[in-house]
Amino acid sequence: NGTGASTATDLFVVNSPNVEYTDNHIKSKYTYRTTSVTQGSDGKYVATPKETIYDFQVDRKVPKVGVMLVGWGGNNGSTVTAGIIANRRGLVWETREGKRAANYYGSVIMGSTVKLGTDTKTGKDINIPFQNLLPMVHPNDLVIGGWDISGMSIADAMDRAAVLEPTLKDLVRKEMASMKPLPSIYYPDFIAANQEERADNLIPGTKACMAHVEQIRKDIREFKAANGLDKVIVQWTANTERFADIIEGINDTADNLLKAIESGHEEVSPSTVFAVACILENAPFINGSPQNTFVPGAIQLAEKHGSFIGGDDFKSGQTKMKSALVDFLISAGIKLTSIASYNHLGNNDGMNLSSQRQFRSKEISKSNVVDDMVAANTVLYKEGEHPDHTVVIKYMPAVGDNKRALDEYYAEIFMGGHQTISIFNVCEDSLLASPLIIDLVLVTEMMTRIQWKAHGADAADAKYSGFHSVLSVLSFMLKAPLTPPGTPVINALAKQRAALTNIFRACVGLEPENDMTLEHKLF
Ligand code: NAD
Repeated sequence: NGTGASTATDLFVVNSPNVEYTDNHIKSKYTYRTTSVTQGSDGKYVATPKETIYDFQVDRKVPKVGVMLVGWGGNNGSTVTAGIIANRRGLVWETREGKRAANYYGSVIMGSTVKLGTDTKTGKDINIPFQNLLPMVHPNDLVIGGWDISGMSIADAMDRAAVLEPTLKDLVRKEMASMKPLPSIYYPDFIAANQEERADNLIPGTKACMAHVEQIRKDIREFKAANGLDKVIVQWTANTERFADIIEGINDTADNLLKAIESGHEEVSPSTVFAVACILENAPFINGSPQNTFVPGAIQLAEKHGSFIGGDDFKSGQTKMKSALVDFLISAGIKLTSIASYNHLGNNDGMNLSSQRQFRSKEISKSNVVDDMVAANTVLYKEGEHPDHTVVIKYMPAVGDNKRALDEYYAEIFMGGHQTISIFNVCEDSLLASPLIIDLVLVTEMMTRIQWKAHGADAADAKYSGFHSVLSVLSFMLKAPLTPPGTPVINALAKQRAALTNIFRACVGLEPENDMTLEHKLF
């Protein structure tokens, strides 16, 4: 173990025969209630309530955690670094609108609350910070490092990003000037040609090889040792790559992927090489960009090693709104018939996406986000019917990181009428993405400390195991959520949040949040 592990002080205890607190663990016996459905020959459904009992075990020791960002010198990487330093030091800076203080707004874990229960005396809800639901790591305690193909210090990268106020930058510059990204791997075919100019910090070689995998693994081990860390979590916040072709015999299985890396096959992307290195090193790897880093062979490799992976593509602005608004419209019984989404942005991400193959990755990632909501409403949509959906992204240097997203939602309402909703969303892209990077780290880290097993008659000696390698519980923060092979993808934002909160609640033996408030409704 590293040196920094500590036991979090609990904000609450659960008073239940099903929950036990030991020095090292919180243990809960949890009844998971679902409904099984069968369909008879007469076409009638039979719905049968079902109960499954699980034993959960949460490790209470909060470890010392490091985050390594691939693309550390980018807008997101430099912004999240400055943000964590500012929070850690409790910084306050002048702006033309007055003083501003560091905060974690936009992080679901640090900025939102969950209902613990109802006050016995007043009948009012007691809400607690999400962060206190389980013994989670605090982002102020994260140690940050990473790689970039651009060798600029993170202080200079922060200037290049042009996101933060000069007064804030002055306060963090000294600390960030000593932060230098490690050299990275650059296979020019995968990102836009317009990125070549900044590629001056490279590990030699322009296609996948085992030496690259080994170098990345070594970087992780050295970072861990140098900072006395218990765990390292790696996130890809580097440029969007083009999709890799899925080729039989090359990236379709774990063994083939490793062989393809050994033989230097050109369809293995840098992000997949990072993923493979992290899987082999047992460091969780999250992909914040849209490309298909997790080719089938990479997913299989993660499963084989019991290593955590998550992705794809941070869900920060337009898509987050979409996964809330479309859920609202369709669940309100309004028939959405088209979505037109335009974006223009002027940061380096925008420049990279101005290249067709990289845009295509983003287009795919942004396109499937309403599928589950449409498919679930068999009243409004016939099988196979789908709203029209178009996504456009344009590079507009003048607006910098202040991305514009314009959306038109067109819907059919009662008796052939129409409703048009138009949204104009403007904000600094990196200030939306940075808190997601933090959430992804905090939740992923927490998932490494939760074990569970079925609680059955012959399960007394059954071993605890962890969650599946593919962390679908991260879906709230991701545009195109990766789920274990063959399992459904949930895009609806409210459902994603409910999954996250209710899984955490189960770990401490609490029922899922329900909004029935029956206690207030009896006549
Ligand atoms: P950016 O271009 O400012 O930063 C990317 C960084 O990655 C650059 O510094 C670049 O030098 C580096 N890089 C490129 N290839 C690399 C490699 N192989 N190894 C190491 N470093 C490499 O972009 P950004 O605005 O920080 O966004 C980062 C990524 O996150 C993009 O792919 C973007 O599409 C994705 N994303 C961003 C948002 C958001 O900002 N709101 C939302 C969703 C997804």
